[in-house]
Amino acid sequence: MVLFSHTKTLIGASVLIGLAAASAPDGKPTKGPSCRYLPGDAKWPSIKEWNHLNKTVGGRLSKTVSIADVCYEPTYNAEKCAAVSAGWAFTDTHVRDPASFTNPIYQNRTDPFQTSRPTSLGHLPVYNIDVRSARDVAAGIKFAQKNNIRLTIKNTGHDFLGKSAGAGALNLWTHNLKSLSILDYKSKHYRGKAIRMGAGVQGFEAFSLAAQNGLRVTGGSCPSVGLAGGYTQGGGHGVLNNKYGLSADQVLEWEVVLADGRHVVATPTNQHKDLYWALSGGGPGTFGVVLSMTTKAHPDGIVSVVSFTFTDAGISRDDFWSTLTAFHAGLNTIHGAGGQAIVTIANGNTFILNGVTFPDRDESHVRQQIAPWLAFLDSKGVTYTPTFTTYPSYFEFYQALFGPLPNGLFPSAQLSVSRLVLPEVIEKNNTALTNALRKVGESGPFFLALSSLGLPKHTGPANAVPENFRRAETLWVTTLPWDFSIPREEMEAWGEDLLNRVLPIMEEVTPGAGGYGNEGNARQVDWKEAFYGETYAELLRVKRKYDRENLFYAVTGVGSEGWGVGGDGRMCRA
Ligand SMILES: Cc1cc2nc3c(=O)[nH]c(=O)nc-3n(C[C@H](O)[C@H](O)[C@H](O)COP(=O)(O)OP(=O)(O)OC[C@H]3O[C@@H](n4cnc5c(N)ncnc54)[C@H](O)[C@@H]3O)c2cc1C
Repeated sequence: MVLFSHTKTLIGASVLIGLAAASAPDGKPTKGPSCRYLPGDAKWPSIKEWNHLNKTVGGRLSKTVSIADVCYEPTYNAEKCAAVSAGWAFTDTHVRDPASFTNPIYQNRTDPFQTSRPTSLGHLPVYNIDVRSARDVAAGIKFAQKNNIRLTIKNTGHDFLGKSAGAGALNLWTHNLKSLSILDYKSKHYRGKAIRMGAGVQGFEAFSLAAQNGLRVTGGSCPSVGLAGGYTQGGGHGVLNNKYGLSADQVLEWEVVLADGRHVVATPTNQHKDLYWALSGGGPGTFGVVLSMTTKAHPDGIVSVVSFTFTDAGISRDDFWSTLTAFHAGLNTIHGAGGQAIVTIANGNTFILNGVTFPDRDESHVRQQIAPWLAFLDSKGVTYTPTFTTYPSYFEFYQALFGPLPNGLFPSAQLSVSRLVLPEVIEKNNTALTNALRKVGESGPFFLALSSLGLPKHTGPANAVPENFRRAETLWVTTLPWDFSIPREEMEAWGEDLLNRVLPIMEEVTPGAGGYGNEGNARQVDWKEAFYGETYAELLRVKRKYDRENLFYAVTGVGSEGWGVGGDGRMCRA
C-alpha cells in the first residue's frame, strides 16, 4: 500500500532501531534480578505456572499469535491475509487483538509483508490477560513481579511511540473494560454532569452515549483512541480544547490498580491526590493500571466549521507558504473568538484546512472570523471553495469531520516528532516558523499536522500538564506515514531523518518549547524536558511512591530511564 507519493534513500544514515534510551538510572530500581526474563531463559515460568495464572483470571489468558500469521505457511489463508494486509496501517486491525499494536519499529518485521515467515514475535508480548476486573489486573501484576517478567498495558495499541509494546511481556489488555455511564457529579471542584468510562472505552463510544444524553465530552481526532488510556493520561488535545481545556483537565476521578495490587480511586482531594495529579497529563502506562476514568460532560449544542483544501496550482511557492504565515498570524484572534483549527500540509504543496471549528457558534460567526484569512488567499490568487456547515450536535459534527466511525480517516502506522509553538514565536518569528515548516514539508514524505491549542485559563485542580502545553498557540506534529511497500531500510532511514534532521529544524525555531509526549518520538534524547518540562521531578517522586520497584515501563515514560531495552527487547535495569 503506498501512503505517499515520493521517497528517496538516505545514504549513510545510521540506524539504531528498537533501542530505548538508558541514561542515568534516576528511576532508582531497588531490588530484583537486573534483567527481565525472556522465553527460553531457565527461569521463564513453566507451562504449569502459566496454566495456574490462566485459572486465576477465569480462563482469559491467551498466548500471543501474531495477526500476520495468516500470511505465512503453514497457517497461510489468502482471504484473511488480504484483509489483514489491507488494514495493517490502520487502527482497527490492531484494536481487537490482545497483543497487536501499530508502531512499525517495534513490530520489527512481524508484519504481513515479509518474504518469509517471521522467526520471532518482534516486540509483541508473549501472553495476554483479557482484563475484566481489578482482580485480574492484580493477578497479572503479582505474576509478573514474582517471575521477574516484563509487564505491559495495551488498550488500543495506537501509541505512535510504541508504548504499549513489550517483547517477552505479560500484557494486560484493557480493551474489554467497556462500562459507560452518565452521572450527576458533586465535588469540591465540580458540580454537574459527568461520564464514567471503563479503561477500554474508545472515543466514538463515549461521544455517542454523551450525545444521546444531550452532552459532549472531549476527545481527539481519532475516534478509536482509548480515552482513559494513553490519550487522557498523556494530556489529550482535540477540537473542543479551546472551549474546555485539554482532556486531562476534565478528569474528576481515576480508578486504578497500583503496583502493590491495591485498588484505589484518586481524586483531586483524597489521599491519592498526587496520583490524580500525575495521571492527569503526566504520561500513560507509568503510575498504575487505570480501570476507569470519570470526566466532565458538557451541555451539547451546535458546532460550526469551515473546511477546504487548496494547492500551489497557479501560484508561486513563496505565495503558497505565505498563506501559512498569514494563518498563524490570525490564530490568536480565532482562539479569542472561540475557534480551534486543524490543518494538514501534504507533499509540501497541499494545504488541507481540516477544519476551523467553533462550538456553540453559528455559521455567520465562522464566516466573520475566517474572512481576513480568505481575503489574504484572494490577494495571492489562491483557488479554493470553502464549505461552511453548522451541525446540530458535537457528535454529528464529529462524524462528518473525523468519521466514518468507528475507525476514522487517519492511518496509525507512522512515526512522529512534535513541537509546541508558543505565542512569542508567532509574534516575533512567524516567517522563520513558516520557513522551518517549508524546509521540512518540501524535503521528504512528511505530513505536517497543526492542532491549535489556545487553551482557556485552567481553573480546575492542578494536574501534570506542563506549562508550555497550556501557553502554546499550537502544536505542530511532523509525521512519517510508514510505507510497507518499500524496503524497510528506506523507511528506517527516513525515521532517522525525521529524528536527526527534521526535529532539530523545528527545535531551532521553537526554542525551549518542548513537544507532546503522545505525538513525539520514542528515541528523542531530551524526552524528559521535551515531554514533561518542569513537572518531571515531581512526577518521578510520585512514580517512586506508587511504583517503588519500577514495574510499569513505557518508553519515554516517567522513570523509564531506570531501564534499558536491547534490540531483542530484553529489558535490564540501567
Ligand atoms: C490516528 C491517531 C490520531 C490521534 N489523534 C490525537 C489527537 O487528536 N489528540 C491527542 O491528544 N492524541 C492523538 N493521538 C495520540 C493518542 O493520544 C495516543 O496514541 C495514545 O497513547 C493512545 O492511547 P490508547 O490507550 O488508545 O493506546 P495504547 O497504545 O493502547 O496505549 C498507549 C499508552 O497508554 C498506556 N495505557 C493504555 N491503557 C492504560 C490503562 N488502562 N492504564 C494505564 N496505562 C494505560 C499504555 O501502556 C501505553 O503506554 C492520535 C493517535 C492516532 C493513532
